[in-house]
Amino acid sequence: MKILKFGGTSVGSPERMKKLLDIIQPGEEKQIVVLSAVAGTTNALVEISQAFTTGDKRKAEALIKGLRVKYEEFVEELFVSQEGKENGKELIDYHFNFIHSFARDLFTPIEERVILAQGELLSTTLYYFFLTEIGVRSKLLPALDFMKIDEDNEPTIDFIGEHLSAMLAASNDHQLFITQGYICRNAFGEIDNLRRGGSDYTASLIGAAIRADEVQIWTDIDGMHNNDPRIVKGTKPIAHLTFDEAAELAYFGAKILHPQSVFPAQRYNIPVRLLNTMDPEAPGTLISKEGAVRGEVRSIAAKDGITAIRIHSSRMLLAFGFLRKVFEVFERYKTPIDMITTSEVAVSLTVDDTRFLSDIERELKDFGSVEVDVNQTIVCVVGDFSLNTHGYASRVLDAVKHIPVRMISYGGSNFNISLLVNADDKIEVLRSLHNRLF
Ligand code: ASP
Ligand code: MG
Repeated sequence: MKILKFGGTSVGSPERMKKLLDIIQPGEEKQIVVLSAVAGTTNALVEISQAFTTGDKRKAEALIKGLRVKYEEFVEELFVSQEGKENGKELIDYHFNFIHSFARDLFTPIEERVILAQGELLSTTLYYFFLTEIGVRSKLLPALDFMKIDEDNEPTIDFIGEHLSAMLAASNDHQLFITQGYICRNAFGEIDNLRRGGSDYTASLIGAAIRADEVQIWTDIDGMHNNDPRIVKGTKPIAHLTFDEAAELAYFGAKILHPQSVFPAQRYNIPVRLLNTMDPEAPGTLISKEGAVRGEVRSIAAKDGITAIRIHSSRMLLAFGFLRKVFEVFERYKTPIDMITTSEVAVSLTVDDTRFLSDIERELKDFGSVEVDVNQTIVCVVGDFSLNTHGYASRVLDAVKHIPVRMISYGGSNFNISLLVNADDKIEVLRSLHNRLF
């Protein structure tokens, strides 16, 4: 069994949607196709929800109408037969009347999640209708019947595997299955989701849960590149990454792969391929267990919008439990820490979620003086820097010797050297590292 996930742009127009069959090529091998919402839909649903939240019904109505018109055109072009067009229109009526029905006085986050789920429900059903129209047999599997997260928002692989396997067994005579990415049910049975970009995660969870042979993530780039192609000239797709390397990069390459998607595949050793719908023959990037090239730099990546926090305290000297107290503050505000460096009397760390920054800052002041630097960028170099290799840190530092570096992290894993720099210096850092390392 193979899992194929197609992102929003891959189903972004009727033409693109029709082209998917060139890649899927229904045949002997069983396949589960995971679809995102049509490009732009989830953003539009977020806007609609915001309008509902602020009670701006007129704005919500205008947004709903705008989105609906797009879908009407989509259906008109996707289907050939009168019957197909009718079915498509009925589907649109159903979902848009439903979205519209939330225009009432009380609008809660639970209802927002129900609205956000409509994008994937629409794209998958439209695709299923399309396949039916052209005589390709497939089975639509409702993700809400098997994709489940627990109280901590963690997916329940065993539950997913059990329920999905039963559904597959019940339709044993089918080869091609279609399901929704992104959406799930939470511990309370409510409709929920796996966070933005979560369709990749769906594919990886399904792959892990039913021990698939391979997970393919189809996007519109030819795999993970060894540097940011928008900034650096001459970047190349990385043919092969280990799960460990991919896990380091996923946080930075969230645009091409949802950061959490690596872990389920890694745990059950399911290879993941990143492939390009626009160039299906291109080899893309294979992520698997084997294949670390010892002592090789694989990729350079950056993440903007980072805030650095330094806590300076003489109480830290020779004390135990100090870091725990610091970390507990972040835990209380559910704010993940990314990078950490320490000295004897100070600790610096970075966050990218600053929603509770002022509360965190206030509480940290109990421990010592606190400095906050905004507009920072983490640049990370990923490769095999295990114990028997040497010289990488010096090459990295040499490449940035003309740039002020706020933090350096080395040795956290065997695969990562990270630097924190001013956002303004990012471009120069990426280019300089590229020239020095590749
Ligand atoms: N449609 C969702 C989003 O836009 C999930 C995804 O595309 O992966 O975030
Ligand atoms: Mg995506």
